[in-house]
Amino acid sequence: MKGVRALTFDLDNTLWETDVSILRAEDAMARHLRTLTPARWMAEFTLETFHEVRKEVIKEQPHISHNLTTIRKETLKRWFENRGATNAVAEDLANEGFQVFYEERQNVTPYPGTVATLSGLSKNFKLAAITNGNADLMAMQIGRYFQFSLQSQHFPEPKPAPVMFEEALKRLKVDPHECMHVGDDIEHDVMGAQQVGMKTVWFNMHSRSPKGDTLADYVITDLRELLRLLK
Ligand SMILES: [Mg+2]
Repeated sequence: MKGVRALTFDLDNTLWETDVSILRAEDAMARHLRTLTPARWMAEFTLETFHEVRKEVIKEQPHISHNLTTIRKETLKRWFENRGATNAVAEDLANEGFQVFYEERQNVTPYPGTVATLSGLSKNFKLAAITNGNADLMAMQIGRYFQFSLQSQHFPEPKPAPVMFEEALKRLKVDPHECMHVGDDIEHDVMGAQQVGMKTVWFNMHSRSPKGDTLADYVITDLRELLRLLK
């Protein structure tokens, strides 16, 4: 394909399966918090009860809904406050719990062929990442193939808003039509990137049927197809 000089990638469920690492990280977080608090503070703690509190927090503070770090910290804080912790203690526990979660959350396993694909592509194209999550790509092994990674928590709005795509184009020093965005989410990735004039690839690993009529320029079910596509 002619004219493409750079690629941007979504991360979660595009380069790796996210649910596995999130579940493992939440489990590690809960185990760690149990060692720090009175037993009754964590007695009712399950993923379900934690997510109930999380829903409440997001409902009360919709402006933080694109910042997964803040949401998680605020949810933990609320959890401990609800059980009688002072504001300061709840905040300390929230920060410490988040640290454990965050470290474990970075422990992802790229889908088969992903590392080789990125390595191959990085020889001919500039690569960057645009994520609505809080994966710390540049601290990972595969970060070395990327120029940078943008996280929505540092921007006023998450994908599909144009702001992160525009920032990526600016930093990559390419025009929209010279950049191809690859992601698994039709709305966030395909529609978002299309709006700013980028080329789009829908990573449809599970061969779902698309909702609505927004069609990506290309649909792939395996990241390795990019190498052929961009020859
Ligand atoms: Mg995704």
